[in-house]
Amino acid sequence: MYQEHAECGNLPELLQQLGKDLDQYLRFEHPDAMSNEASWKAALGGPLPEQGIGCEQLLASMRQYLIPNGSQVPKPGCTAFITTGATSAGVLATLSGTVAAPQRVGLTAFNYLEELSLQWMAEMFNLPATMKGIYSSGGSVANLVALGAARQWAFERLGINPAEDGIQRPCRLYASSACHRTIHRAAAVLGMGRSAVVTIQADNNGRLSPTALRERLAADARKGFVLVAIVANAGTTDTGAIDPLAEIGEIAREFQAWFHIDGAYGLPGVLDPRIEHLYQGMELADSLIVDPHKWLGAPVGIGATFVRDRSILNRAFSQGAADYLEGACHDNNIQNSMQSMGVPYHDFGVELSAPSRGAVVWALIREIGKTGMRERICRHNDMAQLVADLANKHPNLQVVQKPTLSICCFRYISDLAPDLNDLNKQIHRELVEEGRCIPSTTIINGNLVIRPCFVGARTTELHARELVDAVVTAGDGLLENIRNSSNRS
Ligand SMILES: *Cc1c(COP(=O)(O)O)cnc(C)c1O
Repeated sequence: MYQEHAECGNLPELLQQLGKDLDQYLRFEHPDAMSNEASWKAALGGPLPEQGIGCEQLLASMRQYLIPNGSQVPKPGCTAFITTGATSAGVLATLSGTVAAPQRVGLTAFNYLEELSLQWMAEMFNLPATMKGIYSSGGSVANLVALGAARQWAFERLGINPAEDGIQRPCRLYASSACHRTIHRAAAVLGMGRSAVVTIQADNNGRLSPTALRERLAADARKGFVLVAIVANAGTTDTGAIDPLAEIGEIAREFQAWFHIDGAYGLPGVLDPRIEHLYQGMELADSLIVDPHKWLGAPVGIGATFVRDRSILNRAFSQGAADYLEGACHDNNIQNSMQSMGVPYHDFGVELSAPSRGAVVWALIREIGKTGMRERICRHNDMAQLVADLANKHPNLQVVQKPTLSICCFRYISDLAPDLNDLNKQIHRELVEEGRCIPSTTIINGNLVIRPCFVGARTTELHARELVDAVVTAGDGLLENIRNSSNRS
């Protein structure tokens, strides 16, 4: 054991204990955090400590009060979010990076995997071989980086360098009404404003209509806006719908617009041979994002942006020369990992200090390979289809949106219920309180629906069946109450 100061602790021993504590957590035998909120707040809180308790006491406190009162998200029955519990490979690689490569820069093995894992993902997802990437904290920042590139490109064509001089002209970005709201936030942060995002009403299948898009572009064409980007979804957050990428890509070419694809959730779906054709047109993208911390099961905090030409990211995001960075590097005859920054990722995005995320994605792919990834993606898509099949067979269930990927939007229906949205909201409430199956809800064409999204590596077909049963049981029970109360009155 290597230990220099007491506060560095005995890492191997502590990790061994932590491993047991986390394993206990993953049994999900503890009650929900809010059921004993007062006790853990009292134990973890208090005034600013004048004296420390040391690592062992700290870990004991984590074991007793912190870890057991964590989130329900990693639960196999939790299908509420698109993020999920990390798999072990990702946890191991994250921890390794935290200890051995707290920065992604320098000519280390970790830095090598930063680029390699991006290339592996590009190849695995059938992206054009020329596309290069950069990691960031997740889809929010990945979209921001991609749209920063789009803004750079659009203004450079007008002889303006927006990174240097800012933007003085009103901009337009076009996206489906089902696009993720981080598109709007990115437009705000990039100085274009939320109102620069024109949302085109998605069709009944949640997809952006190319006809509606073209009409709106043509109508706006002579209004003097700077056309910054057309944004398409490869898997919407609500329903998993995939926009008609090839047609939208053609329109982007026609109007000479940057074509961005948000595949934060859905890009890995391309691995499923049954739906691979829906991704045709991806090769037209100027930029594209995917979140390894979603369907690939990475620990949260990893998104990736791919662009056709990474030099544009440099022009958009270079932080400028800094003596403490460049001055510490050497130009030639490099003999030591500290003599170069390696690929200058800090000049391609918005983060300087950043963890070694590449090693995590490398570990995930290295562990189970492309085949393992494909199997998991197909398995999750099957679960959504299973929910749809079971719902179709049940007289009180209705599939509101057929699954494209691993999301199935359905609801409980009955002529007896005065308000189906209310009823399904109550069903959802009961499910969450019961705690075994935790989907989310969303609204589709005014209908509140139950929305499971299957992305967890620990989730099985059984959980999908259990969810449908739980919805039926809760719905039947509520219906019984309605019957009883109408009989009484
Ligand atoms: C989740 C999601 C985002 C945002 O990603 P974060 O990693 O949560 O920041 C963006 N776009 C889509 C389509 C998403 O599903």
